[in-house]
Amino acid sequence: MVIANKNIIDISGAGPAGLAAALVIQQAGEHARIYERQKDVGSRFHGDFQGLENWTSDTDVLLELQSLGIQTNFDYQAFNEVVCFDPDGTPHHIRSRLPLFYLVKRGTVSGSLDIALKQQALDAGVEICFGETISNMPAGGIVTHGPQRADVIAAGYLFETDMTDGAWAVVSDDMAPKGYAYVLVHEGRGTLASCMFADFHKERDYVSRCVDFFQQHIHLSMKNEKRFGGAGNSVLHNIAHKGNILYAGEAAGIQDSLFGFGMRWAMLSGAEAAKALLMNKPGEYEDQLDQRLRKFMMVADVNRWLYQRLGNRGYHSVLARHQNIDAREWMQRAYQPRWWTALVYYLFVRRHKKPFLRVHEDCDCTWCRCARHPQEKPPRLPV
Ligand SMILES: Cc1cc2nc3c(=O)[nH]c(=O)nc-3n(C[C@H](O)[C@H](O)[C@H](O)COP(=O)(O)OP(=O)(O)OC[C@H]3O[C@@H](n4cnc5c(N)ncnc54)[C@H](O)[C@@H]3O)c2cc1C
Repeated sequence: MVIANKNIIDISGAGPAGLAAALVIQQAGEHARIYERQKDVGSRFHGDFQGLENWTSDTDVLLELQSLGIQTNFDYQAFNEVVCFDPDGTPHHIRSRLPLFYLVKRGTVSGSLDIALKQQALDAGVEICFGETISNMPAGGIVTHGPQRADVIAAGYLFETDMTDGAWAVVSDDMAPKGYAYVLVHEGRGTLASCMFADFHKERDYVSRCVDFFQQHIHLSMKNEKRFGGAGNSVLHNIAHKGNILYAGEAAGIQDSLFGFGMRWAMLSGAEAAKALLMNKPGEYEDQLDQRLRKFMMVADVNRWLYQRLGNRGYHSVLARHQNIDAREWMQRAYQPRWWTALVYYLFVRRHKKPFLRVHEDCDCTWCRCARHPQEKPPRLPV
């Protein structure tokens, strides 16, 4: 559709991926129209703290976002240190010279990433249709409607506190099976969460063990605590487009399957999807994903497969071995493909993954992912 000489590009979902895509479209002189199911952005979050990872490129994540035309005018705090406990309760100081991650707020609260992106989008002229969904895109568009299944869940508490600012984590299958638990405190507010990659139905037990652990080890003090939780989707999809419909962010399974960091990848993939549609070359989106994100996703998948095999003893030895190494450099190395990454991926990892694919022929709907579409192609090997 065309309005006042501008092409209208539809987007389904106003999360970081959809809003980043919309900003790129609007800045290119076209018109972005987002359909958002909820009444506001960030509705699946609750003012919780999340970490914007800063290790999957040499470029600082804030500069990378700015280079895409996304202003970093949300509240953020750089963190260069995390105290990570092993399952025995021994603390390991994980430090980096440059920020390891930026703490940001999610949800409808003021200063959150979601509210800042929404405001930028509205200022740029993006049309956001709240409370509306779109289920067909005959003219094409971008699907950024977030996770459609749970590969990982996070559950815990948001609270007020008189603790000093800091980031603490624990890796233990007794508190966060195959994952990790964390406490993030900034300016009197805190988030405690157990990120579980297995055994979801015992979520309450794990969270309560985390509370006990952090009370004992960091004198966790919570006031006015509220329960919160959410899920994430991190299955690497073979294809991220069907015709002119492109999938970005968690709707495409674009998320770090090792630790569940998805915000940066959501915004990058949203921006790349928008650029590909603007050039009328949807296939180039796959190339961009291959170059910038899929290689990390494949490494993250392999790392997750290895991590799941560590167990409590393995967590201890990994932490002990990396204590005196710059944490950002260590993480950068951990996310780089090695000669054996593709081998392990194809031999062991891929066959355990169940991709979210439903087969429809020649359709333009936003929710299915046509496995038989002519443009389907297998994922590429990281190089
Ligand atoms: C508890 C928790 C903690 C996390 N912590 C971190 C962290 O520390 N660091 C990090 O990087 N990542 C973290 N993540 C992951 C990160 O939040 C997501 O990867 C990121 O928000 C994905 O962005 P998105 O735009 O793809 O999807 P979303 O943020 O989920 O946005 C999708 C939007 O689409 C809307 N929608 C859904 N269905 C439809 C539909 N049919 N039509 C229209 N609109 C629709 C939704 O309402 C939502 O607004 C965490 C996730 C959870 C749940």
